[in-house]
Amino acid sequence: ALINPVERPEVTSQLSENVILTTVDDLYNWARLSSLWPLLFGTACCFIEFAALIGSRFDFDRFGLVPRSSPRQADLIITAGTITMKYAPILVRLYEQMPEPKYVIAMGACTITGGMFSMDSTTAVRGVDKLIPVDVYIPGCPPRPEAIIDAIIKLRKKIANDSMQERARLLPTHRYYTRPHK
Ligand code: SF4
Repeated sequence: ALINPVERPEVTSQLSENVILTTVDDLYNWARLSSLWPLLFGTACCFIEFAALIGSRFDFDRFGLVPRSSPRQADLIITAGTITMKYAPILVRLYEQMPEPKYVIAMGACTITGGMFSMDSTTAVRGVDKLIPVDVYIPGCPPRPEAIIDAIIKLRKKIANDSMQERARLLPTHRYYTRPHK
């Protein structure tokens, strides 16, 4: 039976003290942003800075981040280093093996634009976002571990406002180029 809050004010006050009202999205997002599991992924010198982040000095475990060696256990990939044409299909394959919902942080000039290889190289991909969708970019050569922490905080804010319904609607657009554009 419906409770009339005017007649039973004590029930209303007990409800507000003992029941947390939220949406499924809020609960789900809170759980996900508190336990992001990044894939161990590095193709060049940027990964040295990412590796430093895993150590006790920067202690990125405090964000609930647990590095994984399998894409099937990861929901975040930080592309640390140059992506070559030869490696591009492997990156796309790894990304596709990660379960949804999943996120990408592009780390460093090489992965964002091709960096110092963007002028003459015939083998560097000019932007990892030509292969997979990127959520946060970290400029620099190389970006310091503090910059990666900043990117993770930005990603956590983005996840906090995520809508599962919206992500599901956008899924068909998450189809990636099998061949990168130069
Ligand atoms: Fe190396 Fe700089 Fe390229 Fe990072 S951005 S992979 S540090 S050359």
